[in-house]
Amino acid sequence: MRVGFGYDVHPFAEGRALWLGGIQIPHARGLKGHSDADVLIHALCDALLGAANLRDIGYHFPDTDDAYKNIDSKILLARTMDLLRTKNYQTGNADITICAEAPKLNPHIPQMQTCLAAIMQIPPDDISIKATTSEKMGFIGREEGIAVFATVLIERI
Ligand code: MG
Repeated sequence: MRVGFGYDVHPFAEGRALWLGGIQIPHARGLKGHSDADVLIHALCDALLGAANLRDIGYHFPDTDDAYKNIDSKILLARTMDLLRTKNYQTGNADITICAEAPKLNPHIPQMQTCLAAIMQIPPDDISIKATTSEKMGFIGREEGIAVFATVLIERI
């Protein structure tokens, strides 16, 4: 068994849809990024790649490559799972923390779990997603962006 950790942050921007954990969440602003800016999936991919010692998301899917412009991050997660399979790893479980002042995310967590579990081919119960605020402090507290921390366990098949 091996452990991996991932972190990502994206700023809010006007005129963007908010994608988080593979689903679209109603909010006045979305996150800015080269892809759909799904900060949760990006942190999760980095945790998975880190656990398998496969570098990081920017190494495999560079934000300078037009192939990844506005790409659905669920595709990046599926490709990350393919990379892990090439090294004979499967996912044990994931534990993810979203740091966001707004919107309220708890009502959306079951749908995120279902969505990610289908891509990762594991039961939704193996994906824990928690939401917290930054108690109005710092860039998260000022609603300038969202940060996500992810930890995963992987096992050799
Ligand atoms: Mg990112």
